[in-house]
Amino acid sequence: MEKNICLLPGDGIGPEILAQGVRLLEACASKFGHRFTFTNALLGGAAIDATGNPLPDETIRACQKADAVFLAAVGGPKWDNLPPEQRPERGLLGIRKALGLFANLRPAMLLPELAGACLLRADIASRGLDLIVVRELTGDIYFGEPRGRDIRDGLRVGYNTMIYNEVEVRRIATVAFETARKRRKKVCSVEKSNVLETSRLWKEVVVETHKQYSDVELTHLYVDNAAMQLVRDPSQFDVILTGNIFGDILSDEASVITGSLGMLPSASLGDSGPGLFEPIHGSAPDISGQDKANPLATILSAALMLRLGFDMGEEAAAIEQAVRKTLADGFRTADIMESGKTLVGCKEMGSRVLERL
Ligand code: NAD
Repeated sequence: MEKNICLLPGDGIGPEILAQGVRLLEACASKFGHRFTFTNALLGGAAIDATGNPLPDETIRACQKADAVFLAAVGGPKWDNLPPEQRPERGLLGIRKALGLFANLRPAMLLPELAGACLLRADIASRGLDLIVVRELTGDIYFGEPRGRDIRDGLRVGYNTMIYNEVEVRRIATVAFETARKRRKKVCSVEKSNVLETSRLWKEVVVETHKQYSDVELTHLYVDNAAMQLVRDPSQFDVILTGNIFGDILSDEASVITGSLGMLPSASLGDSGPGLFEPIHGSAPDISGQDKANPLATILSAALMLRLGFDMGEEAAAIEQAVRKTLADGFRTADIMESGKTLVGCKEMGSRVLERL
């Protein structure tokens, strides 16, 4: 298969970690007889420095033409004092919007090799943690109108609107059910339908959509309970389906309990057109340019691109297994270092995974 991948290295450790992801993709292409071509484009601080704009039109065009977008991270202290609309993070929100990416998929997995890093009690961690949060990304209280600040009866008030329409709910529910079909076939829909009308509509539409997915088990949890269950027994979850604000919070909770920020990939998908694949962490300016960054979240994002973007499950699994083998063989970057293991830098970690692929 031939695929064009648009690369957005961004800032800080971005270029270092993305380079390792690209090495793995190239090796995977030659192992499985594919041809991947790469286009580079500017985003974030790097784009501000070169053009004055965190998301140049040329970058949008390059992403739209690609089969997938592979992003590292943006931002850093150099650009922190710019006005909000000129900051690197604006580029990130802008590219998601330009590509119509309404679904954010965040796997959280506890690899047995890194069980020591998990923030949960050993007996809970030993039951395993392998879930994916499917979060709606373009609606909900973050975008609902009206929103604003006012003076009412002499008091300052702030207000936002939590709103979903049935089309928005159906399309994200469909993503969750399709994702579950490729996994353990369980979806847990998370909302607050005991209190919120928006959530009652959410639940109704999820139940309707489920009729086409009778092979997938559907359960429901209120968000407060879901937050508890995630730390009490995360092994019960396969796919968690939820809206924008609940997903924002739960996906961070789900990833932090694994204890390894430098290990976690993510995907953002739209109806059609290229998906965007990126590690969940930021540009880590404190370790940038020192060959210390952990490239594994980026390498695992490449695997996610193969599986979800190109339907190349076998190729994705090959990269994931190479990562696990590298960890099992004792190689660690500083952020996941334990005694008795071998400390390696960003490039060497990439090389070790490559050898095992
Ligand atoms: P961060 O994720 O960049 O770093 C938090 C801590 O984790 C730091 O100590 C960093 O060294 C460490 N870390 C992160 N990724 C690592 C990796 N791959 N290997 C080893 N250690 C790693 O978050 P922050 O410090 O809050 O933000 C730094 C910059 O990144 C800010 O400008 C922020 O706006 C931006 N940011 C960007 C994204 C993105 O591009 N998607 C996400 C979050 C933050």
